[in-house]
Amino acid sequence: MFHEFGHALHAMMSNVEYPSFAGTNTPTDFVEFPSQFNEHWALDSTVLASYARHYQTGAPMPAELVDKVAGRAPSIRGSHSRNTWPPRCSTWAWHTVPSEAPPQNVDTFEPNALRKYHVDLRNVPPRYHTTYFAHIWSGGYAAGYYAYLWSEVLDDDAYAWFTEHGASPARTVRGSAR
Ligand SMILES: [Zn+2]
Repeated sequence: MFHEFGHALHAMMSNVEYPSFAGTNTPTDFVEFPSQFNEHWALDSTVLASYARHYQTGAPMPAELVDKVAGRAPSIRGSHSRNTWPPRCSTWAWHTVPSEAPPQNVDTFEPNALRKYHVDLRNVPPRYHTTYFAHIWSGGYAAGYYAYLWSEVLDDDAYAWFTEHGASPARTVRGSAR
């Protein structure tokens, strides 16, 4: 939800004369920045406390559980990163098959590609496989699925700025003025 709402915020805050169907038209390396930046807040202890409530009683999540979940945020993001490395590499492998090469066997191509790029990690299976991963051929990504990784560099930097300077508007303005 936080990821997709980041895309929505990006589209709603854009100021363009001719809106595109997708709402935004930025370089691929940047397009996941607003969404991935917004994901950081999902596990922020203050934000988590505002929405993580018991589904029947509405009671807030106990503080010790909030601390536990928020404390795991870096490892949760780390495992997401590890899970998405294999599809990043298999996507790249598909798009670098020479045009004169014969049709490839999908059942062997992907495991071979993961071995080639050293991401065939037994304990970290790919999050997406070739046979159903929409971002390989369509959706505007094609060979650009690596863009999530570059956006991760940007969104981690941006989030670090907020953790260093605080997130209130007043502090943000003062921080920017320096
Ligand atoms: Zn996205």
